[in-house]
Amino acid sequence: MRIWSKTTIKSLVMPGGVLLLGVAVLLWSGWLTLALPALNFLYYSATVGGMLLAWRFHSSRIFFAVLVLLLAGQSIALFGGPHLWPGTPGWVAVQSAAIIVPLDFILIALMQERGFTIAAAAPVGILLFVQSTIVAVLCRAAEDMPSPSVRMHHVATASSLPGYALPVFAAAAIVLLTRFILTRKPVDSALLWSLAAFFLSLRSSGTARVSIAYSVTASCILGASIIENSYLLAYHDELTTLPSRRAFNDALLRLQPPYSIAVVDIDHFKRFNDTYGHDTGDQVLRLVAGGLGRVTGGGQAYRCGGEEFNILFPGKTTAEVVDHLEQLRKTIELSEFRMRSGDRRQSPRGPDRRAERTSGRARKGHAIRQLVQEKSSEPLSVTVSIGVATSAKDESNPDIVLQAADKALYRAKGNGRNRVETASVPRRRSRAKAAEIA
Ligand code: GH3
Ligand code: MG
Ligand code: MG
Repeated sequence: MRIWSKTTIKSLVMPGGVLLLGVAVLLWSGWLTLALPALNFLYYSATVGGMLLAWRFHSSRIFFAVLVLLLAGQSIALFGGPHLWPGTPGWVAVQSAAIIVPLDFILIALMQERGFTIAAAAPVGILLFVQSTIVAVLCRAAEDMPSPSVRMHHVATASSLPGYALPVFAAAAIVLLTRFILTRKPVDSALLWSLAAFFLSLRSSGTARVSIAYSVTASCILGASIIENSYLLAYHDELTTLPSRRAFNDALLRLQPPYSIAVVDIDHFKRFNDTYGHDTGDQVLRLVAGGLGRVTGGGQAYRCGGEEFNILFPGKTTAEVVDHLEQLRKTIELSEFRMRSGDRRQSPRGPDRRAERTSGRARKGHAIRQLVQEKSSEPLSVTVSIGVATSAKDESNPDIVLQAADKALYRAKGNGRNRVETASVPRRRSRAKAAEIA
């Protein structure tokens, strides 16, 4: 798996990085002329909006992240006066936030999303309550210890941030970035960018307008990640991360002839599932999807059904794509993988499992597991059959092209599988080519 692909960079910077950069430019250029009350209104709207969105979309991690920022912001607003002199309660609040918020964000990043059940939410709620109480006690203690001599010589500036703030934020950012690289989820990139926005807000706590503008940005980034995540869920298949049928249908609407559509189906996949279990079947789907995702020739792969994939080649004819499809077929045939040792759940699921129970074939699951254990060290591989068709020059109805590609796939299955068949190129030529490459 490539760590830095174009898609990864895009999902890292969109929308959080772009939003933060936009606000930074607005502030730096002086174009953000909103008055303090308007910014305050935006701040509370973004915070409440973010929390409502998170609750509606069952994202407890985003909910807690917005809450952490709200608590930190409120403690600074409550204890800080117009100036954050060192030793004052406001200064203590800034110092506390500089360590608590990055640590909380690391915790949230590492947390599993378990929704808003009491069992999942209570520990975090209690932790945030204890933190807030400790910060309040520390700030009250500072209220009782005025140090006028120190206050006389300090003006609140960027230096009101403690020395440890930068390394703590930087360490948290590295953890969040690593987490994003591992998951590539919008929530994880949002945590990273909203922490950066909060750092800038804290750094400018001496200048209320700038500080609040960055706080608004931090909450907006978190809220936007929920929308981004919903989009991803709607347009991407979660198992394989390929674009889904919905994305395929959208892409069809934009197509102009000529274009080619390839339909890819895994060979004997049902048998594979029955032998090695559904979890290993899922692994195979990911493996095949990984190969399809790297198809050359300008194609874009989609997962359109269980083990059926479509590849769109805008602006390409069958003659132009057939070699790329042959290469793809061969790559998948040659890819081997070993079952993960952690794959424990090898029994059939759903109707298969029910059928097994009622027909008293309970031993079959055991037999599969045994077979799996015996074969777990053997490398596994699968093959795919592909049918491809091209639109006529004036044909813009993709259904007709899809039907032709389906027919070609059917032929590929009938002709022995693990092959590419074309709807418009004479079969003999395609077969000869397949034999030549295989
Ligand atoms: P053929 O070579 O003719 O295509 O044979 P086949 O066994 O692959 O037949 P078919 O394409 O009809 O098989 C579809 C199987 O794909 C049935 C189901 O068990 C499996 N399948 C569908 N979706 C999933 C999935 O998400 N995960 C897993 N593991 N299996 C799936
Ligand atoms: Mg099928
Ligand atoms: Mg199949």
